[in-house]
Amino acid sequence: MLTGDAVRWGAAVDRAYDCDAYTVDRSAPAAVVLPSTEQEVQAVVRWCVASRVPFTPRGAGTGLSGGAMPALGGVVISTKRLNRILEVDLPNQRLHAEAGVTNSALSKAVAHAGLHFAPDPSSQTVSTLGGNIAENSGGPHTLKYGVTAPHILTVRVVSPNGEMQEFGRRVVGGPGPAWERLVVGSEGLLGVVVSAWVHLTPVPKAVQTVLVALPTIRAASDAVASVIASGIVPAALEMMDRNILMALKVAFGLEFPADTAALLLLECDGEPKQVEEDFARMLAILKGFAPLELRVASDEAERKSLWTARKKGIGAMGRLAPTIVTHDGVIPPSTLPDMLEFVYAVAAREGIGVANLFHAGDGNLHPCFYFDDRDPKQVESVVRAGEEIMRKCLELGGSLTGEHGIGVEKVGLMHAMFGPEDMALQRRVKELFNPDTLCNPCKLIPDQKGCVEHMVRWRGVAT
Ligand SMILES: Cc1cc2nc3c(=O)[nH]c(=O)nc-3n(C[C@H](O)[C@H](O)[C@H](O)COP(=O)(O)OP(=O)(O)OC[C@H]3O[C@@H](n4cnc5c(N)ncnc54)[C@H](O)[C@@H]3O)c2cc1C
Repeated sequence: MLTGDAVRWGAAVDRAYDCDAYTVDRSAPAAVVLPSTEQEVQAVVRWCVASRVPFTPRGAGTGLSGGAMPALGGVVISTKRLNRILEVDLPNQRLHAEAGVTNSALSKAVAHAGLHFAPDPSSQTVSTLGGNIAENSGGPHTLKYGVTAPHILTVRVVSPNGEMQEFGRRVVGGPGPAWERLVVGSEGLLGVVVSAWVHLTPVPKAVQTVLVALPTIRAASDAVASVIASGIVPAALEMMDRNILMALKVAFGLEFPADTAALLLLECDGEPKQVEEDFARMLAILKGFAPLELRVASDEAERKSLWTARKKGIGAMGRLAPTIVTHDGVIPPSTLPDMLEFVYAVAAREGIGVANLFHAGDGNLHPCFYFDDRDPKQVESVVRAGEEIMRKCLELGGSLTGEHGIGVEKVGLMHAMFGPEDMALQRRVKELFNPDTLCNPCKLIPDQKGCVEHMVRWRGVAT
């Protein structure tokens, strides 16, 4: 069993682990454990089951829907020390890693061979393989390469009853059902992932990137729709609105033309000839929308500098207000202009700031509310506005999440997206694995017992 500094508790632990990057709802753990091996994870889970203590898997805690928050207290199982790459198999383009390895470290380990792990959440320098699997994370390059699921070959899991189980096949497209996909995106409800075999993707031979400043949100949305309708599949198609640009100016001194209402970042990658053709067609489409500025990267250094606006956007928002809540909903891309107008109107009515920086190509919207969480009224406004926006996504034929998961944040809206039969089936699947809901309670599946009573909505009592 774990001893020494692998078991921690006390006031500092409560503060560090009572939420993830969704800071609105909080609940402190009784203890945090840091196992170093899969056997230690198994021993902790078995102890929790025998003692009827809830437990919550946690990677880097960058989740944006409250998934790693210990909603009923109990034990947080951190994967921080499960940080080894166990095997690299270059000829077969696959790699076996423990759950606590960061997303970037996977790609770094095989960069010399011209390979990488394609899912690229913007949190990739810290977020972990286990967290990416549990949330089925996406990133700027999801439009072309997909979310995490298609890049996972197997997952090894300590199940909620303490058994060691492996799902999937170690080769791409092996026979039989793809059971690993049941675990990918299950938000830590089906057990603690201890390791996974992942599929590696060749680094593209050519890349072309352009940053386009447009005078209206409508022009930017129409440009996105036109690029998608042309049949070109950009590797990335990201959009940032005026408020993000304001934050970037304040935080990093980045300047864009004065009348810019939206910035688009587009990238094509692949075989050089195809990239050249697609990129030329894409530029021609974009020029049809009278851009205020169109910056094409001439080399890798310039490409990195064009990506700065996108990568630093969320960080820059820290200059606008003490707290940010980033929502995550999906809409059909053609509804983008109307949806953004709706988002601005809701934020204005609630009296809170909102900025948008998101994956426009696949309709994955991220309204980021900035506010002061020391004011309970503002917290309630943010929660209400988020719910209204998510309901609008559903009304438009979209979804409650594109990549950040349901967690506790949106669990109350699951009934709005799924009918009673769908919900009953999802609950039965959860119960097959996790009958007593000791493993990560209160997330994803609505109407679990004790949740509302236990969690505390953040009221800014201790800033
Ligand atoms: C600045 C910023 C940018 C972000 N950008 C993106 C983005 O571009 N795309 C995107 O998809 N997300 C993004 N996110 C959200 C977040 O980074 C991802 O959801 C990420 O995958 C979470 O990884 P983590 O290691 O931090 O997991 P945590 O936050 O620790 O946990 C997330 C969920 O996974 C479960 N979990 C963690 N480890 C395990 C395990 N080993 N076994 C079982 N369950 C586990 C937890 O219980 C929880 O439910 C961003 C977050 C921030 C703060």
